[in-house]
Amino acid sequence: MLDFSGNIVRFQEDYSNIFYHGLDSLNNGEKLDKVARKDKEEKEPAKCPKCEAVPFIKKCTACGYEPKPNSLIVHEKGVMREIMIGKKKAASDERDLWNQVCTYARQHSAPDKQRGRAAHIYKSIVGTWPPFEFYASKDAKISRAVLNKIKSNNIAYAKRRTA
Ligand SMILES: [Zn+2]
Repeated sequence: MLDFSGNIVRFQEDYSNIFYHGLDSLNNGEKLDKVARKDKEEKEPAKCPKCEAVPFIKKCTACGYEPKPNSLIVHEKGVMREIMIGKKKAASDERDLWNQVCTYARQHSAPDKQRGRAAHIYKSIVGTWPPFEFYASKDAKISRAVLNKIKSNNIAYAKRRTA
């Protein structure tokens, strides 16, 4: 996208609004702006935190810097973080969840499939691939929430196969 006139900055808010929330209709019957929109000269446009290129929206077009997206998972050093599935507690932390899904995979999959099975279940719950090794996992009690999640994964998988 080439923008020689600064429209990205000028319509940044509208653009993100539509991008993230979509449109219900193309015209809600509202009046057009009576006064031409001013460039946000008073308010400095966002700069790239790394190379200070302007404009900066989500990803720098000059140096490619991209702030890490806000993950659903917040990592805090030294803080145990419970894994929730909906409102149910699934595991006391990510390592516990990994142990649980590896335990499930050992019980339900052929040896050569266990590692991949565990990783896929883990990702379906946490949203990212596990940062742990399969061989380093221990047997753990599989929580009801994890079992239910696996069950619904299996149903969805079976439906996709027959669809
Ligand atoms: Zn930059």
